Amino acid sequence: MRIFSRFARFVLDSLVILIAGCSGISAQRTTHVERLYILDCDEGVASDASRWSPGVNVGIPVEFVDQCYLIKHTQGWILWDTGVDDAVAILPDGAVPTDPKAMHWRRPKTLASQLGQIGVKPSDIKFIAISHTHPDHIGNVEMFPQAMLLVQKAEYEWPGAYNAPRFNPGHPVTRIEGDKDVFGDGSIMILSTPGHTPGHQSLLVELPKTGAIVLSGDAVHFKSNWDNRRVPSINYSKDTTLGSMERIAGVLAGKHAQLWINHDKAQRDTLKMAPEYYE
Ligand SMILES: [Zn+2]
Repeated sequence: MRIFSRFARFVLDSLVILIAGCSGISAQRTTHVERLYILDCDEGVASDASRWSPGVNVGIPVEFVDQCYLIKHTQGWILWDTGVDDAVAILPDGAVPTDPKAMHWRRPKTLASQLGQIGVKPSDIKFIAISHTHPDHIGNVEMFPQAMLLVQKAEYEWPGAYNAPRFNPGHPVTRIEGDKDVFGDGSIMILSTPGHTPGHQSLLVELPKTGAIVLSGDAVHFKSNWDNRRVPSINYSKDTTLGSMERIAGVLAGKHAQLWINHDKAQRDTLKMAPEYYE
């Protein structure tokens, strides 16, 4: 059964790559990604790295970064994740967690100010796609009340604390089941990668000059966790997370893609931040 499901997943991923590739050949002349900006969506520290790498780096503090990614497609703007709430920027100590082992986030720059620097208004954003509903990814969703929310149905319907909805029920939403080709030309593909949360997703972006990139969301937190297939103890399902990591590895190989790991500071420090951009 396990072998069959792996084979089925392999076949499915091969089809995704084939469809994305074929549609790209015919459609990318007219519709394609133009730019990708990396926005600083908060920086943080936690007292014990082993929360994210069980048994490894026990008691060692770890620094985190957290990005939002603003993508200009010929058909409109899409924002991938929204970071910690901009309101945290005015708190002198940032968002101090009640759980001492959780992340302590600070907001050196607001999302709004970085969009403004690029010359993009919140009302310009057509889609906001959300990797998952942890607070460091959904803090500013309601800055974009008109934008279509692209989220997995399993994540949208996952009950929050005290059964609270995870999003404003009035926000326009597309509840995805599986993968989604956002603009229909294969250049921006949402990939279902559950495990960190029930409806976690990642994003495959094809840039004309830079090539293909997979934006991890929290499918993995650090390169060392990727290399060693480590799963944080806080994840919803270890086995499903490992399956999603294998899935991403297959997409990276098939598309010759880079993996940009959202929370990995060492990698982030090598990348260009907005207002610089990738093409
Ligand atoms: Zn998370």
